This record gives sequence, C-alpha cells and structure tokens, in this order.
Amino acid sequence: MVTLDPRRLRNVNTRTVYSFEEVYNFGKSNVWMSYRDSCRFVDRVWLEEVPDRLPPVVVPHEKWVDKMASGAYYFHDHQISVRPAVRSRGVLLHELTHAMGYLEHNPGFLAQLFTLLMKYCGCELGQLVMAAGFAGIVVR
Ligand SMILES: [Zn+2]
Repeated sequence: MVTLDPRRLRNVNTRTVYSFEEVYNFGKSNVWMSYRDSCRFVDRVWLEEVPDRLPPVVVPHEKWVDKMASGAYYFHDHQISVRPAVRSRGVLLHELTHAMGYLEHNPGFLAQLFTLLMKYCGCELGQLVMAAGFAGIVVR
C-alpha cells in the first residue's frame, strides 16, 4: 500500500487537521454507524494493526456527555467516546490513531490517519492530499 512519509507534511496542527476533516468525505469514511457496529469496527482495526495490545473500549457517549457536550474523544485510560450523531469510520479512525500512540495532531498522526483511511475506508492518497491542501496542510 502507498503510504505518506510524515516528513513530507507541513503545517499540520489541530486547526488544520480539523479543517481537513471538514473537507474530506471519501469512500466509507463518512457513513454513519450504530454503536454496536462502531465497537466491532474498532476491534477489527485494532486486531489487524496492533495485535499485541488490548483494543480501546468504545464507551457510550452518554457517559461523558455531562463533561463534554459534543465531538469524539480518546481518553488516556484507553477509552473512545463518539457522539452518536458523528459516529463514522472516519471519526473512529481519528480516535484509533490517538489510541495507537499518536496523541498530538502532528505529521506522524496525519500520516497514520491517511494510512488507515486508505485501508479501511477506500480513500485514495491523492484525494486525501487534495483535501489536506484545502485545509492548509502542505505536502511536499
Ligand atoms: Zn484528535
């Protein structure tokens, strides 16, 4: 599979990563999932990518809703929570990338996210690079 060397990425930060995620909408990345399907998806990806570690637990978002009213989160106790309205492969892969050890929105994070989006959502690298460009991320 084609991957992207993170050293080729410039201007990757929280703002541009979130902007990228507003722009891209390819393959299966944005298809809504049930809570049950999201748990299965997380387990499947984790078993494939990180077979030697236990997968993160997907907790129902309601558990966290009193603290954080929206969005998706990876918690350092290895739990993922995604607001039901935005539950999709793309959002889960973002949180899985954090769970894999890429805690900050930096070039390594984005390169790993691209790899997962290609593998599990059918995205093409050229599409992702184009969407990243719209978000202000430079690929050299
Ligand atoms: Zn994040």
